Amino acid sequence: MLDELKKLEKTALVALGQVDTVAGLDAWRTEHLGKKSLLTTTLRGVGKLPPEERPVVGKLAQEVKTALEDALTEARERVLALEQERAAKAERVDVTLPGRPVSLGRLHPVTQTLHRIYDIFAQMGFQVYRAREVETDEYNFQLLNMPPDHPARDMWSTFFTTRDGILLRTHTSPGQIRTMREYCPEPIRVILPGRCYRYEDVTARHETMFYQVEGLAVGRDITMADLKGVLAAFAKRLYGDDRQVRFRCSYFPFTEPSVEVDIDCAICGGEGCRVCKHTGWVEILGAGMVHPQVLRNGGYDPEQFTGFAFGMGPERVTMLKSEIDDIRYFYSNDLRFLAQF
Ligand SMILES: [Zn+2]
Repeated sequence: MLDELKKLEKTALVALGQVDTVAGLDAWRTEHLGKKSLLTTTLRGVGKLPPEERPVVGKLAQEVKTALEDALTEARERVLALEQERAAKAERVDVTLPGRPVSLGRLHPVTQTLHRIYDIFAQMGFQVYRAREVETDEYNFQLLNMPPDHPARDMWSTFFTTRDGILLRTHTSPGQIRTMREYCPEPIRVILPGRCYRYEDVTARHETMFYQVEGLAVGRDITMADLKGVLAAFAKRLYGDDRQVRFRCSYFPFTEPSVEVDIDCAICGGEGCRVCKHTGWVEILGAGMVHPQVLRNGGYDPEQFTGFAFGMGPERVTMLKSEIDDIRYFYSNDLRFLAQF
């Protein structure tokens, strides 16, 4: 019996020396110290031994048990260290692998179009003039030939503030008056980009906030030919040299005569399609010779000075160039849309 216990201890210790995982330790413990282990059974059976053998066997069995438990504690430390080492090896960062690409932001499609428009007009000598977005009724309407009862005001519903006569501008045109009053009597060549606001239902073609780029040239001997030359050159540079440009009569309260400028439809080549509403032509901007009264309101004598003005929507420009059919995409912050530019 004593020899068996000695042998049991030896076998168990040898087995323990080969264990190198925590799971292995648990299995070893069940096998050698568990309820069904040989050692436990032996300890339980001590009571059935002859009385003279009991103390000797009992004492030795207890000693073996303690030795095994101590060995287990020691082995646990060794195995835990091993497992840590293995984990560190497995999870080691390989610094030679290529990194994950950083997602870069980009300019908003409308901003990109604005930059393109600035470039083209800068090449023709136009400066950028920034005007305010919160305007007075006087600048937004009255000085542009729209007195309070003028029917053309129906085309420009806006947001009014709680202060009488203060509103969000409906177009960039009040900037014309501000520019003229600042530079009179010098000649002027500016573009006036910025946000405008309309109190309208939001649809595929209308937003309550949008951009406009206004242009204004004032000087001596400026004629309709200058207007046509500048705008045709602009249209060809923006939309491509092979685009046809046409001018149609139109009406704006602050220009006389007024025109609308079309280009032939690049998508169908003039054949007619959904984008050009089957006309073969697409409107790109409105323009005209500055109305004499508007010149006068800006401080210029219409007998000596003439000028032309134009206005366009960069959203619409982008929609035409990229075949986008809904203006709401621009301001709904959908990255699937924005990431395409
Ligand atoms: Zn077309």
